[in-house]
Amino acid sequence: MGSIDTPKNPENGSRTLPPATDAYATYDGDKNGIDGMPARATEMTLPVESEAIKKRRASMLPLEVGTRVLCRWRDCKYHPVKVIERRKMQFGGSNEYEYYVHYTEFNRRLDEWVKLEQLDLDSVETVVDEKVEDKVTSLKMTRHQKRKIDETHVEGHEELDAASLREHEEFTKVKNIATIELGRYEIETWYFSPFPPEYNDCLRLYFCEFCLNFMKRKEQLQRHMKKCDLKHPPGDEIYRSGTLSMFEVDGKKNKVYGQNLCYLAKLFLDHKTLYYDVDLFLFYILCECDDRGCHMVGYFSKEKHSEESYNLACILTLPPYQRKGYGKFLIAFWVVILGRYDVACC
Ligand SMILES: [Zn+2]
Repeated sequence: MGSIDTPKNPENGSRTLPPATDAYATYDGDKNGIDGMPARATEMTLPVESEAIKKRRASMLPLEVGTRVLCRWRDCKYHPVKVIERRKMQFGGSNEYEYYVHYTEFNRRLDEWVKLEQLDLDSVETVVDEKVEDKVTSLKMTRHQKRKIDETHVEGHEELDAASLREHEEFTKVKNIATIELGRYEIETWYFSPFPPEYNDCLRLYFCEFCLNFMKRKEQLQRHMKKCDLKHPPGDEIYRSGTLSMFEVDGKKNKVYGQNLCYLAKLFLDHKTLYYDVDLFLFYILCECDDRGCHMVGYFSKEKHSEESYNLACILTLPPYQRKGYGKFLIAFWVVILGRYDVACC
């Protein structure tokens, strides 16, 4: 089950898009660069020491997963982070890496890829706390599974059974899509979502806000919007009050929509299980409607034939609409739907 928590961070990571259609042509996918950052005073005034410092820094690289270090965040201040993952730079030298970090002071949703320049190598804690690492790992894997993974670390995962591999993948997951465009909003994502492999290389996805098809490029979306017939979620409108409408979507009748919704929702829910088998679910989509169409605010899903009929599978208010009472509305609506099912059972 998901959460309707609103972000603790004062900025919810979304902003309204300006009307110009090519507004993001200059986006470079990296808002956290440190261009213009002054060089360290020690490097300018103490050239001999600078050589020593350079050597010491070079000896640390590439940083190991698990390293704790200070990282320059978007507020231009340094915050403690832990390196979760690393990968070679696409166009860098053979030993140039970027790092996926978790800010230990912040929610996991702010984890991100950073460049080496953002890290203060003088703050590196050289001893990785392996005992803590073990504890974290053991939360996800048994000792036996952990040993098997260690043994096959370099060779690959051929010797892992499916369950161990799944757990390993779970453990090493990093956020893949950084932002999405949905209707008039550009939204920063919070968590990993298992989009199909062909979307692995894009930081930004463009969603049709009505059918929830997603695309790699803005031009694809613009072409799609000229053809897309929908102006509201597929399914039946089961509630309307003022500008608010609720649509009931049967996952069996609208399989692609259900799957697209799950991909989208996982970007904002940490522990959601993705339901590829959406046939078994009903989705209730809350929309704000105007003359351009019905714009999704949030949703909840419910298993059709769960033995526990009160089972609320998932609930989400999209970030641009949070802190407006929609989460409470969704829960209240779910209670009403539950009442309908209870009556139907009697
Ligand atoms: Zn569409």
